[in-house]
Amino acid sequence: MSAERFVMEGIGVSPGYAIGRAHLVDRRRIQIPKYHLPHDQVESELERLEAALAQSESQIQDVRDKLSDAGEEHGLILEAHQLMLRDEQLVHATREAIRADLINAEWALKKVIRSIKQLFDNIDDEYFRERRADVEFVGSRVLRNLLGTAQPNLSLVGPSAIVVAHDLSPADTAFLMRTAVLGFATDAGGKTSHTAIMARSLDLPAVVGLENISERVATGDMLILDGASGRIVVNPSPVELARYQRLQLEWQNRLAVITASRHAPAATTDGVPVHIAANVERPEETRTALEFGALGVGLYRTEYLYMNRETLPSEDEQYAAYRQVVEDAGPSGATIRTLDIGGDKFIEHLKRNRELNPVMGLRAIRFCLHELKLFKTQLRALLRASAHGRLRILIPLVSGVEEVRVVRALLQDCRDEVVAAGHAVADDIPLGIMIELPSAALIADVLAHEADFFAIGTNDLIQYMLAIDRGNEHVAHLYRPLHPAVLRVLAQVVAAAHAAGIPVSMCGEMAGEPGYIPVLLGLGLTELSMNTVSVPLVKSVVRAISMADCRALFSELSALVTTAEIERRVALRTQQLLKDLPLPELFSHAR
Ligand code: PEP
Ligand code: MG
Repeated sequence: MSAERFVMEGIGVSPGYAIGRAHLVDRRRIQIPKYHLPHDQVESELERLEAALAQSESQIQDVRDKLSDAGEEHGLILEAHQLMLRDEQLVHATREAIRADLINAEWALKKVIRSIKQLFDNIDDEYFRERRADVEFVGSRVLRNLLGTAQPNLSLVGPSAIVVAHDLSPADTAFLMRTAVLGFATDAGGKTSHTAIMARSLDLPAVVGLENISERVATGDMLILDGASGRIVVNPSPVELARYQRLQLEWQNRLAVITASRHAPAATTDGVPVHIAANVERPEETRTALEFGALGVGLYRTEYLYMNRETLPSEDEQYAAYRQVVEDAGPSGATIRTLDIGGDKFIEHLKRNRELNPVMGLRAIRFCLHELKLFKTQLRALLRASAHGRLRILIPLVSGVEEVRVVRALLQDCRDEVVAAGHAVADDIPLGIMIELPSAALIADVLAHEADFFAIGTNDLIQYMLAIDRGNEHVAHLYRPLHPAVLRVLAQVVAAAHAAGIPVSMCGEMAGEPGYIPVLLGLGLTELSMNTVSVPLVKSVVRAISMADCRALFSELSALVTTAEIERRVALRTQQLLKDLPLPELFSHAR
C-alpha cells in the first residue's frame, strides 16, 4: 500500500532541497501531576526544584561544550537559556507558588510558564514570540527533569532524516546538526525564528510555519523539502522523486561554484562593478560578513545593542562596539545607523508612552531628537569610533530636510565635545539618510543636497507607500516590492542621487533577493547591502548578467501597469537571464 501523497506550504527559510524520511520529534504535551503539599514537604519540594534546575543547566552546558566550535549564534542562544534558569521571574515565582499555594513543583512551574507566556502573547512582535518559545523550551526541559523523563530522544534520529517537529529548541537544533540530519520542517516559526537562523548558518534546508505538519506526517514518511519555496511534498510519486533528485544535484553543483567564487569581485558581464556589502545586527557579525565575500558593512542596525537589557549602553560600551565594526569592516568601511527603535522594534526599558499606532509614532530619528541626551551619547561614541577606520553615519526614517540639518548641528556639537575631551575624530564622516518614507523619496532631489549619501530602506518604504504593515501576516500577500509605484519611486530616488553626485545604495531585504537584482541594476543601483548569507549568491547573479539587459528589462517594465504583469515579466526575464543559477522559485516570499 502506498502512503497518501500531499503537499504542504510553509515559509522557506533556508534554501536547498532535502529528500529523505521524516523523523517526528514530539516535544509537546508533557503530562504533569498536580497535587497539594503538606507544610512539612515544602522544603523538600524546593530542593527537588533546585535539583531539576541544576540538572537542566548542566544538560545545556553539555550541549554548549559539544558545540563550542559550531558558531557563536548557538552559544549565545544556549547561554540565554542557562540564564533563564536563574531568572527571577521564572525561578523565584515558581518557588513562591510552591510555598504560597502549597503545590508540587511541576504544577507551580507550569503556572509560572503560562503566565509569562501570556505576557508575551499580548505583544505583537516577532522578537517576543521567539522569547515566548524560549520560555517554553527551558520550562519543558525543567519539567521533564522534575518528572525524571528523558528529554525528547533526539539520539534516535538517524543521519539521513528530515526532522519534523512542532518547534525545535536551539539546543535541539544544535544537537541534531551533529547527527547530520538533512533538514528541518516545523509547525511554528517565521523567517527570523531560531530554527531558521540556525538552519541558515548550518546551510541546512528548512521550512517553518507549516502549522500542522507534526500532526499530518509520521516517522518514516518520505519527504521532499524545498527550503527556498517553502514547499513540502509528502510521499511523492517516483517521477516527482526523480525530478527533485535532479534539482538537488544541480543545486548542489551550482552552490559549490557560487561559494567558491564568493571573494571574486561582482561586476556585470559588460564590466559594471557592483558593490555588495552586508547588513549586520551585532558587531561580531562583521567578520563573518567579510568571510562571505561582503565588501564592508552597508548597514549596522545599532538598536540591537540596546535590546535585552535593563540599562542603556554607555558611551564607552557603544564606542567599543562601533570601533569593532569599523575596524573589522576593513577598507570598504562601515555604515552605522543611529538608533532605530519604535515601530516594530520594541525596547522595554525605553518604552515611553503607549502608542496606538507605533509604526507612525515616535520612531527612529524622531525618537532620538526627542531623547537628545541618549542620542548625543550615541553620536559621541560614533565620532570616537571614526578614528579607527572608514565610518559613515546613517539616519533612519528621515522625513524631510529639517531633520538632516538638526542632526548635522548636533554632530558638530558632539564633535566639539569629543575633541575637547581629547579624543581623536576622523575629519570626514559622511552623513547619510535612509530613504524609507514616501515624503523623503518625493523630495530626494532636495535631500540629495543635504545628505552625503542615500540608503534606500525598502522594508519600510514599501510598508509606508503601500500602507502594508510589514509584520502583519494577514496583509503579507499585498506587500509587493514590484508595485509600479514602488519601482517609479526607486528610479526617481536613484536618479536624484546620481544628478547630485552622491552615492546611493539599497539595504532593504529586496536587495538580497536574487530575483530582483536585474530590476535594481536596471533602475540604476550599483550598491547593495544585504543579509550575510545572500552575499555569495547575489554576487554570482551580478556576474551572470549584463547591465544592458538589466536596463532593457527595466524600460520594458515601464509600459506595464499592474503589479502582477510586472512580476510575471520580471520572473520570465530573470529566469532567462539567470538560467544557469540556482533560483528555485522567484518571489516565493511575495506569496
Ligand atoms: C528598511 O526599512 O528597509 C531597513 C533596511 O531598515 P529596517 O529593516 O531596520 O527597518
Ligand atoms: Mg527601516
